[in-house]
Amino acid sequence: MLIVMDKDATTEEIQAVVAKIEALGYVAQPIPGGERVAIGILRNPRPVDPALFLDMPGVIQAIPVSKPYKLVSREMKRNDTIITLAGDLEIGRGRFVVMAGPCAVESEKQALTIARLVKEAGARIFRGGAYKPRTSPYSYQGLGKSGLKILAKVREETGLLTVTEAVDQESLKQVAEYADIIQIGARNMQNFSLLRAAGRAAKPVLLKRGMHATLEEWLMAAEYIMAEGNSRVILCERGVRGIGEHARNLLDLATIPAVRRESHLPIVVDPSHAAGRRDLVPPLARAAVAAGADGLLIEVHHEPEKALSDGAQSLYPGQFHRLMEEIRSLRPGGWH
Ligand code: PEP
Ligand code: MN
Repeated sequence: MLIVMDKDATTEEIQAVVAKIEALGYVAQPIPGGERVAIGILRNPRPVDPALFLDMPGVIQAIPVSKPYKLVSREMKRNDTIITLAGDLEIGRGRFVVMAGPCAVESEKQALTIARLVKEAGARIFRGGAYKPRTSPYSYQGLGKSGLKILAKVREETGLLTVTEAVDQESLKQVAEYADIIQIGARNMQNFSLLRAAGRAAKPVLLKRGMHATLEEWLMAAEYIMAEGNSRVILCERGVRGIGEHARNLLDLATIPAVRRESHLPIVVDPSHAAGRRDLVPPLARAAVAAGADGLLIEVHHEPEKALSDGAQSLYPGQFHRLMEEIRSLRPGGWH
């Protein structure tokens, strides 16, 4: 249930609604944005009777929220959310951001070289895993904390913001300290204790879609984060398990308009993990832009043949540069 207040409602009237919700044993969640205050009712095991609120001063509407996800839903918040990432960099509602870099941080020299190249091409955020969730325990697992320190150095030297994955609660604490955006990977999309911990962090969260997740499961994962108080959630479509062998995953671009309908949160697309091979990345990236994505997450490596992970899907810097030019022509507004 969403209680919508009159635009002239006083602080006392708003407080009275909050107090009534709490007295019923539920949680009151003010919803930011818009010209009027709205208050969401959460943790109610059964539907709430609208009549309990409709005769209170300052209340103009009580809207039942029919979806299982509440805070992420468009029913709760009508306007697209704009998330401030850090400084003046925003994403959502037409503010388009490109995040690019290697799959994994391999060394300071590697990270800085790639960061300078992607920055020159127009990326504002540097990606690079310090903790890598790998299918095989024998594959490269990342540099861990020293990788995070390299990311901090990249930020300092280039001014790029950083996004990197947290794979468990321990790494989450460190990622939240060193990086600008916490990435939750596809394999952890339903790691509910990790989602809750990300919801208590003070940094925005990039939530990848699980490789078998329905749209509803994905939005419920975002709800876990928001329910803990972190409203800065960016959804990231990265493809689901498909049947073809021509690509690593099946990029589901239908999620862009479908998410827009269901949720106010920004959605970005990762064509690299969807494709698994670099020749497919630029066309998928362009398609994502055309379908209305709020940003892209792209793997780039200056020496992909020597990359310790995901070299085959990493773009050469020249390819990335060309792709950015193409995006510019697709988006007359350019990007941040
Ligand atoms: C990644 O971005 O490096 C990654 C491991 O992605 P995903 O979780 O989508 O597989
Ligand atoms: Mn990767």
